[in-house]
Amino acid sequence: MTAAAEQLCLQNFGNGVFIRGIVEFSNVCGCDCLYCGIRKSNRGVSRYTMNREEILSAVRSGYEAGVRSFVLQSGEAPVYTVDSFCRIIEAVHRQCSNEIALTLSVGERSRSEYRRFFDAGADRFLMRFETANPRVYALNHPGRSLESRFEALHTLKEIGYETGTGFLIGIPHEEPDDFELNLETLIAFRPHMVGLGPFVPAPQTPAAAFPPGSFEKVLQAYSRIRLALPKVNLASVTALDSLAAQGRYKALRAGANVYMPNLTPADFRKRYRLYEKKSSVDAFSGWPQILEKEMSGFGRRPLWNEIGTSPMMNEDIEKINRSGISPSATASER
Ligand code: SF4
Repeated sequence: MTAAAEQLCLQNFGNGVFIRGIVEFSNVCGCDCLYCGIRKSNRGVSRYTMNREEILSAVRSGYEAGVRSFVLQSGEAPVYTVDSFCRIIEAVHRQCSNEIALTLSVGERSRSEYRRFFDAGADRFLMRFETANPRVYALNHPGRSLESRFEALHTLKEIGYETGTGFLIGIPHEEPDDFELNLETLIAFRPHMVGLGPFVPAPQTPAAAFPPGSFEKVLQAYSRIRLALPKVNLASVTALDSLAAQGRYKALRAGANVYMPNLTPADFRKRYRLYEKKSSVDAFSGWPQILEKEMSGFGRRPLWNEIGTSPMMNEDIEKINRSGISPSATASER
């Protein structure tokens, strides 16, 4: 199945891989997800929030290397006011001459906040649903519900975000049929982007003793998703490197077409520990060259200077345009 998925991916995207640089700008979080190393109850975490200049500088380092798609990711906490965060979004676009796409990964917010961020220039949003089993969701996310997660995901799509989601393979308390349920739910949602990965136990969390998700199952999920949604942007996630040597590259052989180098400065990066991280290529200076060399060993090449819009997003925009209904605003129109 992985060979067929890789073949389909090559047919749709060629051997180029979209590059999406991630900046983990704050590890402050108001949630207590059982499995997460930066959950609010973990007193052993040294908390940080990068200031505006630090965020801009991290993005600049990626831009200078040829990255044209960025993710600003944080825990789920309003570490910036909506106004200040909108100003940061605008400044990021300005310093990159409006030549980039900007993804947010900041969790559940109100519709009006999502709208404000979108109007300020956020094009895309990533938010995993983690598990489609409501019981397992509630056990892992105290005080949260799967229903509100999906409500937020639908809101993002309605506003016009290029929307990404995914799940956690091997999430604590998972039930035997959950893998199929998760896949079905994901495919039915028709996300523009997918980011799914394995559960990796984090020390000092209630889930520290649970076994990690299976690497083979993650690859199987990538392939199933590629075959079901041939044009989705499917990201090979950092957590894969914690389970297997060159795990992120191996995911490219199973249908993934997006690679996410971590652009967070080293001092902050080591404090953003959702799970036990292994060092990887983007932790070193000269990473773009190392990335090219290592990726070529898997028959692929990074696509520099491309924002990498999901073809599924383009299809949705065309549908809206054909319907004659004036969309509130789409990313391509701003
Ligand atoms: S998974 Fe996300 S929302 Fe949950 S505790 Fe960790 S950072 Fe917070």
